[in-house]
Amino acid sequence: MKPVERHLADILGTVRPLAPLEVDLERALGTVLAEDVTAPVSLPPFDNSAMDGYAVRAGDVVNVPVSLSVTEDVAAGDGALRAIGSGMVARIMTGAPVPAGADAVVPVEWTDAGRTQVTIHKQVQPGNAIRLIGEDVRAGDVVLREGTRIGAAQLGILAGVGRRRVRVRPQPRVVVLSTGAELAEPGTPLGPGQIWESNSFMLAAAVREAGAEGFRAGAVTDDPNRFLDILDAQLLRADAVITSGGVSMGAYEPVKEALAPLGRVVFEKVAMQPGMPQGFGLVGDDNVPIFTLPGNPVSAFVSFVLFVRPALRQMQGLPATLPETVKATTTAPLHSPPGRRSFLRAVLTGGTVAPVHGQGSHQLAALASANALVIVPEDVTVLAEGATVEVIPL
Ligand code: AMP
Ligand code: MG
Repeated sequence: MKPVERHLADILGTVRPLAPLEVDLERALGTVLAEDVTAPVSLPPFDNSAMDGYAVRAGDVVNVPVSLSVTEDVAAGDGALRAIGSGMVARIMTGAPVPAGADAVVPVEWTDAGRTQVTIHKQVQPGNAIRLIGEDVRAGDVVLREGTRIGAAQLGILAGVGRRRVRVRPQPRVVVLSTGAELAEPGTPLGPGQIWESNSFMLAAAVREAGAEGFRAGAVTDDPNRFLDILDAQLLRADAVITSGGVSMGAYEPVKEALAPLGRVVFEKVAMQPGMPQGFGLVGDDNVPIFTLPGNPVSAFVSFVLFVRPALRQMQGLPATLPETVKATTTAPLHSPPGRRSFLRAVLTGGTVAPVHGQGSHQLAALASANALVIVPEDVTVLAEGATVEVIPL
């Protein structure tokens, strides 16, 4: 059987980062920067008031209380300002430019709030309540590096440095196709021998959680020709395809029957549990990567975490590796088949990890109650309670 690392290495050796493109800021959320972003000007671009109050010369506000004359109002957005002379103040609002001559802002709370004459009853230090030019960013500074995923705060600073368009790697568009004649659409009644189709919802959601765009495409069939037709139609809008089911050893395995003869998708046994039957390759004229995951829901999920998620990261120009692990102490004995790496569903709390009840690869409820996968290595078949284990937090 093929080691987990080798399967991932084959995938990462094939999958290419998507080509960068320029997008409007409105479309940039969730994409990954493909350029370093620098500030064209300093931020703040000018000294401005951090509070509503009075712009003063601190030297005029030493012996308090003191009464000073108010020359003008300065609001946020005001441009040409008169300089503040000795014994004078300007009433100033938050965000308004500090007039020349002033070196401190006195908060309105320290005053009688006068409009033409103001009495200040507290001493002020030079620089008080003034936000200095360049205090956040200096002109020419890099504010975001290539390879940064754009979230809300990153969008904020992009706009904050005046960018309208930005060069990014887009979110991969990933089509999810489920196969299986036994599958009924959720929301419809179950016929004899049927189960509700869950993998396409789960995998499309996992794709979105991984920062890509996931689309469910109905391919609930066990007919290889029909599967190929649906795949062909979906390739138009796909940067990658995930299928579930139809890759095992039985009869009616449409994915394998349809793709194996084309010779560009390799079907293999990977030394893991759950998720042994795996397939990966390229399809269509555009060489779209395809991940053919096993149909058991827990197997499909674990396969996604180990193989598809890193590949989606690589497509976005991000570092791609097996999931990070933490160490924890198991609260119960663990069992694993020889020669295969187990990924047991578990609840991780602090430094301890408790396997959940129901480790079958069909036991989706158990998966949904877990928040971690405990790894039991290939050469280990049993671990005692209290053993230290590697854990993948989910
Ligand atoms: P297969 O890999 O097609 O042999 O399927 C393995 C098991 O997973 C079978 O019990 C299927 O009924 C189940 N299964 C396959 N696809 C799905 C799906 N999309 N949703 C829920 N269960 C599935
Ligand atoms: Mg099937």
